[in-house]
Amino acid sequence: MTPQTIYALSSAPGRAGVAVIRLSGPQAADAVLALTGRDLPKPRTASLRRLRDADGVLIDEALVLWFEKPHSFTGEDVAELHVHGGRAVLAALFDALAKLPGLRLAEPGEFSRRAFEHGRFDLTQAEALGDLINAETEAQRRQALQQMQGALGNLYEGWRNRLTHALAHLEAEIDFPDEDLPEGVAAEVKPQIARLREEIAGHLADNRRGEILREGLMVAILGAPNVGKSSLLNALARRDVAIVSEIPGTTRDVIEAHLDLGGYPVVLADTAGLRAKDETAADRIEREGIHRALKRAEGADLKLVVLDAARLRETLAEETAALIDENAIVVVNKVDAAPDLPPDLAFAGRAPIRLSVKTGAGMTDLLAALQEAVTARLGGGAGASLTRERHRLALQDCVASLDRFLADTSAAELAAEDVRLAARALGRITGRIEVEDLLDVIFRDFCIGK
Ligand code: GDP
Repeated sequence: MTPQTIYALSSAPGRAGVAVIRLSGPQAADAVLALTGRDLPKPRTASLRRLRDADGVLIDEALVLWFEKPHSFTGEDVAELHVHGGRAVLAALFDALAKLPGLRLAEPGEFSRRAFEHGRFDLTQAEALGDLINAETEAQRRQALQQMQGALGNLYEGWRNRLTHALAHLEAEIDFPDEDLPEGVAAEVKPQIARLREEIAGHLADNRRGEILREGLMVAILGAPNVGKSSLLNALARRDVAIVSEIPGTTRDVIEAHLDLGGYPVVLADTAGLRAKDETAADRIEREGIHRALKRAEGADLKLVVLDAARLRETLAEETAALIDENAIVVVNKVDAAPDLPPDLAFAGRAPIRLSVKTGAGMTDLLAALQEAVTARLGGGAGASLTRERHRLALQDCVASLDRFLADTSAAELAAEDVRLAARALGRITGRIEVEDLLDVIFRDFCIGK
């Protein structure tokens, strides 16, 4: 079956100086001929053309780019129409495109999916393309670009090649048992497999660095009601995302702000105030808020535990104290209202950050402490990091198979099967094998036109 030709707006929707419409598929050439009424432009060269509808009415003047298969993003014939980015221009052009035979609107991620299916890139590169489009900070952009250029895919394919090589040796012994092959191929292969297993395990033991970098480091702001959590979130985000009020317990749900801390992405969450369960004032909705706050605290990569300088003992109630560990930064807020604060305060052996959201005192210290914690988690890591749970699960599968091989190689067929399964797990990450069922899930996350 010949594939249909797809088209979509590839630039952002809305009014703009220029809008880019992309077409891909066997009818792309006919569509360009019909719209321009003349010969195809020279490939990969911008050509100025008048676009007209079927009745010959002028739609716009456009730059037309022609990419002949397989030298295009998708590997199919591709045309790009750069028109003026007005709503009416786009409406008229889409109307004209819809009337051309064999053309239909693209689904989300369909251009990228076709590129993958034509072998233009592997699955890790396709995922990285999505990440690059969504990257909000410098470190995210660098990680996505590195993966898009094949750093991760090459690493995994390199590992898979080593396994395939080992497998060939193991199978030779099985297939030609009577040949004069060297004794104990498994024994020979074992040290290589053990080394590879350590490399993969080392790659896995990265504290989820790549995944956190992709999703943002989760920081939860926690503490008793009215200590200034919402005010702190606002001050950090420098915009009004949380409602600040003087009635205790008004932040009942979790409110998030996205920050860029020195290039690293941070998702800051304000939570409901924590109070003792037996306090009668806590109604059902508030208890739900507290429940969510505690869940946030559990899932957070870092906790900002906020206390009130004027009510230290009270705001350090049991629920709050229990949250202070090595993953917490303790913030004593409202120091402007507590001039007699003891100079030697310490929580879990560490001095807290003394802060006044109101006057701004201590804000620089807090930002420095945050930056240090974020850099400790996400900094460094020159090599390619795995960026998705999908990669992690497949690598864990791979290690489990290698462990089975290393534990017992007495039965040659079973030993070979373990190595085969390990190689297959790696192949699933790059999309070399067995991925038909995965494709819908992966490309669905893309937007239309990508
Ligand atoms: P939350 O319940 O912990 O989110 O607390 P809010 O952010 O709603 O703040 C409670 C009250 O404390 C508000 O009236 C704030 O204006 C006030 N507040 C917040 N930070 C400071 C501060 O540094 N100093 C003083 N004096 N008041 C503050």
